Amino acid sequence: MHKFNYDINEKKLTPEAKPKPTIEPMDITSESLQRLDKIMSSSKTSPDKKDKLIKAITGYCCTCGSIATKIATYKMNDATLIEKYCDACLARGIS
Ligand SMILES: [Zn+2]
Repeated sequence: MHKFNYDINEKKLTPEAKPKPTIEPMDITSESLQRLDKIMSSSKTSPDKKDKLIKAITGYCCTCGSIATKIATYKMNDATLIEKYCDACLARGIS
């Protein structure tokens, strides 16, 4: 039983479990991103409003939770997995 669980965990940790993603920039201008960034750092905007804005415009980076700027598409056998990342996490490598 214990051995069985270990095998499953091992599989999840293997990078080969995910195919290489196609990275595409978010469909948003850098002006809009900068404006969004400004709103995010403003203390006048409520956290609730910030949250709604991010979700409506770019979404969050799935690794660190900051504003996502790139979309990674993984073509799996029977599905397409889409994940969002920020520049910093992409630069670090996401596999
Ligand atoms: Zn990130």
